[in-house]
Amino acid sequence: MKKSAADIREDIKTHVEFLSEAGAGFAVRGPEDKPVAAAGEPGAPAAPGPALGLPSLAGRRAQTGAEKKALEEIDRQVLVCQLCALHRFRTHAVPGEGDRSAELMFIGEGPGRDEDAQGRPFVGRAGQLLRKIIAAMTFREDEVYITNMVKCRPPENRVPHQEEIEACSRYLIRQIELIRPRVIVTLGRTPTDTFAPGREGMTARRGHFGDYRGIPVMPTFHPSYLVRNEGNRELKRMVWEDMQKVMVLLGRK
Ligand code: URA
Ligand code: SF4
Repeated sequence: MKKSAADIREDIKTHVEFLSEAGAGFAVRGPEDKPVAAAGEPGAPAAPGPALGLPSLAGRRAQTGAEKKALEEIDRQVLVCQLCALHRFRTHAVPGEGDRSAELMFIGEGPGRDEDAQGRPFVGRAGQLLRKIIAAMTFREDEVYITNMVKCRPPENRVPHQEEIEACSRYLIRQIELIRPRVIVTLGRTPTDTFAPGREGMTARRGHFGDYRGIPVMPTFHPSYLVRNEGNRELKRMVWEDMQKVMVLLGRK
């Protein structure tokens, strides 16, 4: 998809906006920025729950046409899925969107009101901020893949229950296996608990790469947390610091 000059200007504007809000211009590389050990190598973090016994996804091989088709099939299944109670509350299921062979994948918690109404992930206020962050990372929205732990909106935006996450994980895990991103960013506690588990809070866990079957996982704060703490530039600065580490890994910096 070719962008118009106006679109490009808009991208640059959001890029600069987020960078200045984040107080850009600080150092990226800290002493903890060791190369990420692949699964099975010494130094590799313990595999998270759903990875147990599953094959490594490290070393990105090209996607086949059949795999692209399988991703479209997942979308169709999600739209009519009734595997957990959340299907009863949805207007639209939200499978995810973006490049189905993206190098970079963002995983949120679950659709909110706006996402449920539109059938698209991250389109409300938090979504607008996420899309600014993506632009600041020098990615176009259609170059990354954006999805959620659960594909249907939990009532009153409550945190999804474990059995809902487990029911829906069959779709997410297949999406990861078929897209095979080079890096996954987990937004907030819910996806971080699955893909980079740990006992500490997000403040301690953000900024440190975990590992899901050979794919580096960067946990960071959920954009809705940033929206709720709008005046807190330190939070934005931390998210930007985390995203710069992702950019270094993807050769964007
Ligand atoms: N919050 C999420 O976790 N996901 C969305 O898609 C929107 C808001
Ligand atoms: Fe199916 Fe996931 Fe929706 Fe539950 S949340 S009904 S598992 S698509």
